[in-house]
Order: sequence, then structure tokens, then C-alpha cells
Amino acid sequence: MAFEVPPLPYDYNALEPHIDEETMRLHHDKHHQAYVDKANEALKGTPLEGKPVEEVLANLSQLPEDKQAAVRNNAGGHHNHTLFWESMSPNGGGEPTGELAEAINQAFGSFEAFKEQFEANGVAQFGSGWTWLVLENGQLKATKTPNQDSPILQGQIPLLGNDVWEHAYYLTYRNRRPDYLKAWWNVVNWDKVAERYAAAKAAQS
Ligand code: MN
Repeated sequence: MAFEVPPLPYDYNALEPHIDEETMRLHHDKHHQAYVDKANEALKGTPLEGKPVEEVLANLSQLPEDKQAAVRNNAGGHHNHTLFWESMSPNGGGEPTGELAEAINQAFGSFEAFKEQFEANGVAQFGSGWTWLVLENGQLKATKTPNQDSPILQGQIPLLGNDVWEHAYYLTYRNRRPDYLKAWWNVVNWDKVAERYAAAKAAQS
């Protein structure tokens, strides 16, 4: 089946004041839709057409060379944004609990230290890209990627990602990316991240 933009799991204005309604409408309905349309177009007639997006991203080399960049960017954009919408909730914020909290403390020293590194990676990403919490060989890591590159390209499983393209924050935060990165913690859905962590651990063990 061709890729589709999943409906937002909350209203467009539900993440205000941290993310404004107009940003959510443009970001979800226009930007994400464009990645989906272009990914579907690029995959047409290739051996990966109709495959799950994770499988597509893990097997880019199976595509004709002249399709690889378009699929990397647009299937990457589709996967990144699908994960992004689900990573947020109007009831979000606070701190992770349980095994995920323990793993974050073990990997980064503390939740505060993790947040600092995640924000710093977002600030340091020159131009457009993403800041991530990923699982790699059973180990939590904070990373960043340019453009719409998915951590899946590196064999990592993304658990949480924040979009630092200007389209994600410019209407409210203008040039103040660090302020956006700080405010974003108020909407993070830690239950969802914990669910991904449990699934990722099972997949990598
Ligand atoms: Mn985006």
C-alpha cells in the first residue's frame, strides 16, 4: 500500500502554547503530505514499492541509483514525521518512568543531562535536521541527523526525535531554535517513548 499521512492523534491547536495551530496545520497537512507524495512517486515500479517504510529505509541500496536520494529524503521525511506526531501529546511533559528512566540515567547520568545533550544536538545541527534519542546495539544514544535522514539509515532505532527544520518552529519562535527546543519538553509523550523503547530492546536483543 502506498504511504499515507496518518491523522494527528489530537487537535491542531492541542499543543498550544508550545506549538501553534498554524504551524501544526502547515507542518502536518502540507509538509508531511509532500514527503508522502514524493516518496510514493519515487518508489513506483521499484522492488520496494508497497513495503513498510522501515524496510524501505533499511534497504535503500536495493533501489536504482537515481531513486535513492529521493527515497532517502522523502520516505525519511514520512517516517520521521509519523514518529514526531506520536511523540507529542497535550497531556505530555514531565519525566520518563520505569525502565526507560533507569536506562536514561545509566546512559547520560541523569534526565537533566540527557535533555541538555538532546537540546545541544538540536542547536548544533547546522541548517535543517533532527535531534534524536536512539537505541543502537542495546545502548541509548543522543544523535543528530541532517535533512530528513532517519537514524534507521545508521542501523539505529529512533525512540524520540525533535524536528529542527525552521518550518517546525519559525512562526512562534522565529530564529530562537534553543527556546523551541526547551519548550518542546512540555509536550513530549513519555509513555509513547517507553513503548518504543520496550519494542526496540526486544528487536535488538
Ligand atoms: Mn518537519
